[in-house]
Amino acid sequence: MRDRVATAARTAGRDPESVSILPVTKGFPSARLGDVVAAGFTAVGENRVSEAQAKREGLPHLDLAYHMIGHLQRNKAAAAVRVFDRIDSVDSVRLADRLAAVAGPAGRTALPVLVQVNASGEASKGGLPIEQAVAGVERICAMANLRVRGLMTMAPIDADEHMLHEVFGRVRRCLEECRNQIAGFEGIELSMGMSGDFEIAIAEGATQIRLGTVLLGERK
Ligand SMILES: *Cc1c(COP(=O)(O)O)cnc(C)c1O
Repeated sequence: MRDRVATAARTAGRDPESVSILPVTKGFPSARLGDVVAAGFTAVGENRVSEAQAKREGLPHLDLAYHMIGHLQRNKAAAAVRVFDRIDSVDSVRLADRLAAVAGPAGRTALPVLVQVNASGEASKGGLPIEQAVAGVERICAMANLRVRGLMTMAPIDADEHMLHEVFGRVRRCLEECRNQIAGFEGIELSMGMSGDFEIAIAEGATQIRLGTVLLGERK
């Protein structure tokens, strides 16, 4: 996998080191997290608070950062800030507000987050509508206890290559706008691309790709 990622980066004229792989271990048993660490990875993506908590508690010896990549209900925010090192799927200003409120009491005074953007307009996809993203990111940046590291997006499932370039490109430009328009904003992370579309995401500037099946096999 690392070879394919490096090749995609070089083809796009980018330094392979500028793209990291986040192994997505949701739905895989805990034992697979040990494999992931043995393979040299230092972080994983999970999409449920309870599953991540169980893995974390069952594997205290693993030096691994847990990233939340799925929709987070506001009533689980307090648990999430205790379980996850970073929340990569902050999909509304209201959720950010909730996270900011519960982070402090949990001792998280600089919780790293990514703001999820919906760049395709697909109603089933979460995230701030792209037209509102800069304003939303600006509000989230002003909240206590949160550190916005960048943006995350999910492409439409059945998009063709042209559409994928379009959607990922929009999110990259949105991050650039955030950097130009929001004073002090230094987010550079662009989490986009999954098993089926990561090469296109890399061509469009992804700094983190989230790989499940292509890296770990089919989930049972
Ligand atoms: C499951 C998931 C992935 C990984 O999907 P694969 O197609 O298995 O690579 C990436 N991102 C998110 C948000 C996911 O929920």
